[in-house]
Amino acid sequence: MEKVICHYCGNETELVTGDVIYPHRNDLKNKKFYLCRPCSAYVGCHPNTDKPLGIVANAELRKAKSKAHAVFDPIWRNRKLMKRSEAYKWLAESLAIDRSECHIGMFNLDMCKRVVDLVINKFN
Ligand SMILES: [Zn+2]
Repeated sequence: MEKVICHYCGNETELVTGDVIYPHRNDLKNKKFYLCRPCSAYVGCHPNTDKPLGIVANAELRKAKSKAHAVFDPIWRNRKLMKRSEAYKWLAESLAIDRSECHIGMFNLDMCKRVVDLVINKFN
C-alpha cells in the first residue's frame, strides 16, 4: 500500500474498504479507498490495486468534480458537439496540461472551477 497524505490536513490517510465509506453500497464493499477521517476526505483506487485515483476529496471537492462532469460530459455525450477524445484534447489544451493528466477525477478545486468556466465560455 502507498503512503497517501491528506492534502487538507497533512495526516496520513488509511486504506479502507468501501463499506466504511458507503455502508449501504454492497457493490462497493470490496473496493479500496484511502480515507482521512478528520476531513471526511477520500479517494478510490485503480481497479484491483492499492493505487489511488488522484488526491483525496472532501465534500466540497466531490461536489465541484460532479459539477465539472455535469457541464463537461454533455459536450460529447448528449450534445455531441465534439467526440469524447476531441473534448478531452480541447480541455487539456485549454488547461495547459498533458492529455494523460486530464481526468476530472484527479483535479483539485481550482481546476474543477476552470473546467466549468471554460465550457461555459466556449459552448454556452
Ligand atoms: Zn485530512
